Amino acid sequence: MKLLFLGPPGAGKGTQAAGVSAHLKVPHISTGDMFRSAIKNATPVGLEAKKYLDAGELVPDSVVIDMVRERLSMPDCANGYLLDGFPRTVEQAIALDEIDAPDIVVDIEVPDERLLSRLTGRRVCGKCQGTFHISQLKDEHACPLCGGALSQRNDDKPETISTRLRAYHEQTEPLIGYYSGLGKLRRVEVNRLRTVDGDSRPEEVFKGILATLE
Ligand code: ADP
Ligand code: ZN
Repeated sequence: MKLLFLGPPGAGKGTQAAGVSAHLKVPHISTGDMFRSAIKNATPVGLEAKKYLDAGELVPDSVVIDMVRERLSMPDCANGYLLDGFPRTVEQAIALDEIDAPDIVVDIEVPDERLLSRLTGRRVCGKCQGTFHISQLKDEHACPLCGGALSQRNDDKPETISTRLRAYHEQTEPLIGYYSGLGKLRRVEVNRLRTVDGDSRPEEVFKGILATLE
């Protein structure tokens, strides 16, 4: 199955994608994780992308599209994929339809007013990349799964969060129309969109996603 997750920053895409990709046995491809690892390893893509991530802005389409094209050509994607964080612009969605079009698009919806506290309270494990909210943690500094050190993402600061939410509403939200086939941006005649309520406990959201895939 070729699947992608749409939704604002903080909707829980990464958390849900980890569970759903294991369930479906397809690779979880997160462009955000790919960029963070490229930055850590100081690759050419990482050096180019860093200023955009730090500012909370989108990395230019050509950079992202080339990176995803290369990733999707790898053998582990032969039976499908779960994309998380891509596409984020109409340009990227059109490119993806040309590279290897998704079958189903799951839009995880969470109201804006809930996103801020989710993002400012988010902590990430430097060892296993697990993501947690401070409200779930007994120890704010240690990963409950592997004991690794938890830290706050650079772009989870309030100033950067508002830029990311603006980028979402302006550049990514139009993809809902693109994939439902109802908006002005229609290129494909079928409705590939499934909407899931992301404003409940992670286990409930997970059930909602699996139900919509049946
Ligand atoms: P979130 O969904 O929580 O904002 P991600 O980890 O998906 O976080 O993305 C972090 C950052 O990586 C984005 O703010 C952006 O700078 C960059 N990025 C990730 N995916 C894309 C993409 N498809 N197009 C452009 N930039 C991207
Ligand atoms: Zn961990």
